[in-house]
Amino acid sequence: MTNLATHTYAQAQDAKDPLRAYRNRFHMPMQANGKPYVYLCGNSLGLQPKSTAAALQQELLDWQNLGVEGHFHAKNPWMPYHEFLTEAMARVVGAKPIEVVVMNTLTVNLHLMMVSFYRPKGKRTKILIEADAFPSDKYAVESQIRFHGLDPKECLIELQAREGEVCLRNEDIQALIEEQGEEIALILFGNTNYYTGQFFDMKRISAWGHAKGCFVGFDCAHGAGNVPLDLHDSNCDFAVWCNYKYLNAGPGSLGGAFVHERHAHDPNMPRFEGWWGHNKATRFKMRDAFDPTPGIEAWQLSNPPILSMVAVWASLQIFDEVGMNNLRKKALSLTGYLETLVKSLGDDIINIITPSDTAQRGCQLSIQVKNADKTLFDTITKAGVIADWREPDVIRVAPTPMYNSYEDVYRFYVLLKEAIGK
Ligand SMILES: *Cc1c(COP(=O)(O)O)cnc(C)c1O
Repeated sequence: MTNLATHTYAQAQDAKDPLRAYRNRFHMPMQANGKPYVYLCGNSLGLQPKSTAAALQQELLDWQNLGVEGHFHAKNPWMPYHEFLTEAMARVVGAKPIEVVVMNTLTVNLHLMMVSFYRPKGKRTKILIEADAFPSDKYAVESQIRFHGLDPKECLIELQAREGEVCLRNEDIQALIEEQGEEIALILFGNTNYYTGQFFDMKRISAWGHAKGCFVGFDCAHGAGNVPLDLHDSNCDFAVWCNYKYLNAGPGSLGGAFVHERHAHDPNMPRFEGWWGHNKATRFKMRDAFDPTPGIEAWQLSNPPILSMVAVWASLQIFDEVGMNNLRKKALSLTGYLETLVKSLGDDIINIITPSDTAQRGCQLSIQVKNADKTLFDTITKAGVIADWREPDVIRVAPTPMYNSYEDVYRFYVLLKEAIGK
């Protein structure tokens, strides 16, 4: 059998990788010694495409030369600017254009969606989330519950994994919805959990929720640009995500939002509204009553920050070139390679908490190192790895298929192996 744990093997895989040229389309953070870092943190902040700077320069130039006229006469007119991003974004998340928009930021969009899809009434007052949800999501749902005069202690259900387990089981999600669904107004899951890397079955969770009359939404912060989402077919009511993780649109970049087409023309949809959601034909008359644009654009509030939008678009153009299917194919192989190498260190010391079933994960692996503390992480960081540490003992690494190589994965393995003294 070939020894996979060699530099030669990793390099041979890179030579065969049809996506290998894309690494060079991104700026790689460099160590002081002139070598690139092993950057495995695209799940936290994706790298900068080299094309972003020129795209940004274009908008600065149009602003410089045209002033307000840029809304109509810029190379990429600012008035309809968000529309330039819609189709590419829809392809990334598997949606129809009428269902997708880039606007605001993630937590803001989550609140806007809950204004529409968390409508506690009668005995249906609860929100179901996964235990260990991202803190911002938990703060958002708790504050929404309180906003309606209710008590999070009674109205927030956090589904725990079984004793001794970290990931949730489908049958437990189903059973809980079956039992308590009539009291649940909204089911909200991180479609790919930020901590465990578990990728949930959105279609089934939506079906279970809908059968009980609940709305179902997903936070796709760790899914967008990572896993095949098929938001439309999953049939969920809404989804939100950020674009600075796998989608490489820069720190604090604008978020994305999805509302299923079946809600696109609902005249009774409760919603917080602003002028950018108004019918485009009459938006600038400014005298008419609010007339919503069909679909998710009705949720837009403000004219968007073009200088931030630019980076989202620059990145989406690369996603469009590569295609999510090709990315997924490489991700399965690259993460599989990481898994094989890390597991070979021995289960006396390593426990990967991310599901081994590839249908239940994206590119991230969350690696628990027994009896480790943060000094282990500091050691590999000093040796040139950028990854992520979660107390008490988990290293999260995400080899992203867009710009990471098999050699990156191999280098990480070697440094981890040295750090644990194997
Ligand atoms: C990254 C992330 C956030 C961050 O929220 P912002 O509003 O973009 O600051 C929220 N929720 C989840 C699940 C995340 O992964």
